[in-house]
Amino acid sequence: MKFNELNLIEPILKALNDERYEIPSPIQEESIPILLQGRDLLGCAQTGTGKTAAFAIPILQMLYQQRENGAPKPKPNSPKVLVLTPTRELATQVAQSFVTYGRYTGLKTIAIFGGVSQNPQTAALRAGVDILVATPGRLNDLIGQKLCDLSDVSMFVLDEADRMLDMGFFPDVKKVIARLPQKRQTLLFSATMPEEIEALANSILDNPETVMVTPVSSTVDSIEQYIYFVDKSNKIKLLINLLEDNKIFSALVFSRTKHGADRIKKALTQAGIETGVIHGDKTQGVRQKALSDFKALRTRILVATDIAARGIDIDELSHVINYDLPNEPETYVHRIGRTGRAGLSGIAISFCNFDEKEYLKDIQKLIGKEIPVVKEHPYPMKILVKTPKQQRPPRPPRGQRSQENQKKPKNSQSNRKANHSKSSNWKRKGKPTKSSE
Ligand code: AMP
Repeated sequence: MKFNELNLIEPILKALNDERYEIPSPIQEESIPILLQGRDLLGCAQTGTGKTAAFAIPILQMLYQQRENGAPKPKPNSPKVLVLTPTRELATQVAQSFVTYGRYTGLKTIAIFGGVSQNPQTAALRAGVDILVATPGRLNDLIGQKLCDLSDVSMFVLDEADRMLDMGFFPDVKKVIARLPQKRQTLLFSATMPEEIEALANSILDNPETVMVTPVSSTVDSIEQYIYFVDKSNKIKLLINLLEDNKIFSALVFSRTKHGADRIKKALTQAGIETGVIHGDKTQGVRQKALSDFKALRTRILVATDIAARGIDIDELSHVINYDLPNEPETYVHRIGRTGRAGLSGIAISFCNFDEKEYLKDIQKLIGKEIPVVKEHPYPMKILVKTPKQQRPPRPPRGQRSQENQKKPKNSQSNRKANHSKSSNWKRKGKPTKSSE
């Protein structure tokens, strides 16, 4: 199926064409028609399945059509659509998706979240927004100050509900829900369905359709994965050492930060290894050139940050190297999922320093297995114990993320299963990296 078979309007098809999205992902194919009918939806899906577009596209279409049919523009401080997300990163990403897919609709989206000044956010709200993407704490703050009013919300999305629960945001979420009008369309997305989420789904969804996609973690089974424990200061030496072994014909190297990516590129170039780099501080032109050089094998290595690498598709990529481990375990799955496609064997090598051991635990929990450790290498980790000053604060528990907990919800009206299988090719077309990083 193609996007133009989903009854989408021209302004949205045009934006999807700009993004070079041709084939809807399984969750998009299932959800878009249901949502366009105005139905409530329970989506069991993780990030990486295309779930953001699965809700953003129909929401934008419905709002656009309402506006075309004479619906008034939003009043100051009164959004028409509310999307709640657990983290500021996700809020920013989701809002960016609405902006991207809605760029020809004239609809306005903003993100609000804590940890930054509220003034620009309240000014934007005052100017009138169609779609508000928010984290629950900041939203309740603004509601308390009478700077945001939810009485005009006609569509509500609760995204990553299980993470909201893990992070202790449920009281805030429930406070927000209590402020929403009764008459609305509601969508709830969650990667797992523990009892609390099921109970919440039962209480907020009205006769929902359920769409389930197989967890992304199952898509990495075919990839050979290895861990190298190495001190931070030795990572670059280890990387060069590994690349000197010509079995690594070409590799995508992930860095958590833009500075780090630049440093890696510089060191590899000095070592005589042709290397390109893409991150958010590079212009679109420079990024595209780096990517095309890599695809054409003019450079052997491409160093990338996660956001810059979103949506990049490289056929026949044999190696992914995680120079830094990501702090979100799903990001690990996205990163390594770029190799081993279309039945090819792929290898994912990850460096893990002392500070990253917690991240490794989360990753192993998500993928449901231990990653083999390569013990024999020239730079084994020296730091074994840290002084209390250097220790990181404990991380909040991530809750039950293993596959066993993915229970089928009891309240499903009709359970559909969209197979996010290895053979699905919805992401195979290269799309430009228009990330906002
Ligand atoms: P999400 O699960 O919403 O975080 O999306 C995962 C990634 O897939 C994002 O980088 C999207 O830009 C990309 N994406 C979503 N839908 C499609 C599609 N139909 N075709 C190609 N890429 C897509």
